[in-house]
Amino acid sequence: MNQIELINVRKDYTTKTLGTVTAVNNFNLTIKKGECFSFLGPSGCGKTTTLRMLAGFEDLSEGEIRLEGKVVSNKAKNLYVPPEHRNLGMVFQAFAVWPHLNVFDNVAFPLQVQKRPKAEIEERVNLALKQTNLLDQAKVFPSDLSGGEQQRIALARSIVVNPGILLLDEPLSNLDPKLRESMRFEIKRLQKEYNFTIVFVTHDQSEALALSDRLLVMNKGEIIQIGTPQELYNKPVSLFVHNFLGESNFTKVEYRDGKVYADGDTTQPLPCDIKHMDKAVKLATRPSEIEINHESGIKTKITKRIILSEYTEYYVSLGTQELKIQAPHHQVLAVGDECYIRLVNPVYYDAEERNLTHAE
Ligand code: ATP
Repeated sequence: MNQIELINVRKDYTTKTLGTVTAVNNFNLTIKKGECFSFLGPSGCGKTTTLRMLAGFEDLSEGEIRLEGKVVSNKAKNLYVPPEHRNLGMVFQAFAVWPHLNVFDNVAFPLQVQKRPKAEIEERVNLALKQTNLLDQAKVFPSDLSGGEQQRIALARSIVVNPGILLLDEPLSNLDPKLRESMRFEIKRLQKEYNFTIVFVTHDQSEALALSDRLLVMNKGEIIQIGTPQELYNKPVSLFVHNFLGESNFTKVEYRDGKVYADGDTTQPLPCDIKHMDKAVKLATRPSEIEINHESGIKTKITKRIILSEYTEYYVSLGTQELKIQAPHHQVLAVGDECYIRLVNPVYYDAEERNLTHAE
């Protein structure tokens, strides 16, 4: 069953200084029950606006939103279901825990608003605190807790109402890297236990890749690509998506006599099996997908070496340009050494920055 549907959704904001700005445009998306789905894109691309429309904090300028098969927003019919009747849990970037309430009362708050019986509140809050490992801190005030614990209060408060859908807007961005990782794990565990549908907003690509069953990359209010993390990482439709998901070398290339060469190189054609190569202008290669060896491939020279904790970074020349390579530490080369490189998954882009290698 589709748990979330957005049909031709558009959102315009009108401000005194900027006039009308279209924050979200032509947005069509369906998310299935139990999916963890991320919105990924640069700052200002419309992620939060879309989430706020799902939550019912913003009306639509056009289109329709359905949750669990029920229409909750429809511009043409002037239909709007308020947030408290959408069966949602929400955690936003600023944790918004109440400093004057202890952990138990923070988590109990949404149930008190619903005027649930005392015994039921007690039971459900204790369960949510157990799920988020906060039982021992039930009587403590948030100011005496760490950032990660405070974030868990927000998480407990969002799951205590048994939501069908959990909306998370950059909920981990205020945490240090270690805590972020353990919270990611917590969220996945809770999702499995409760079978929530999760919509996760982030501009951190590694977070989106780690958490999502599927994700979308958006830019300037529009969806650029939807797919699994593997699909988006391995077959990005455009250079924008390629660049957004992980590091890459982008090399200017030229087409000559049926072959492709790096800009400034006339002797060593690059591996390429695309027929209409005259359109290609850029080659993208991930630093982790270039192999260095001593026998065959493209002949080059090490120009720079940086030893990092997880790998050694080598730079090699390619025509007038440089390629960055991530190699395992056991492969030891020095600046000035000659070597050969092999491109494992080269992707070519045309002048409009569309993927030629994986074009259908
Ligand atoms: P970030 O990652 O920085 O949070 P985002 O992708 O979530 O960004 P949004 O906050 O959805 O982006 O903003 C999308 C666009 O809409 C931006 O150009 C923003 O300036 C504009 N915008 C958002 N909220 C309002 C508002 N209340 N009034 C006017 N313009 C707004």
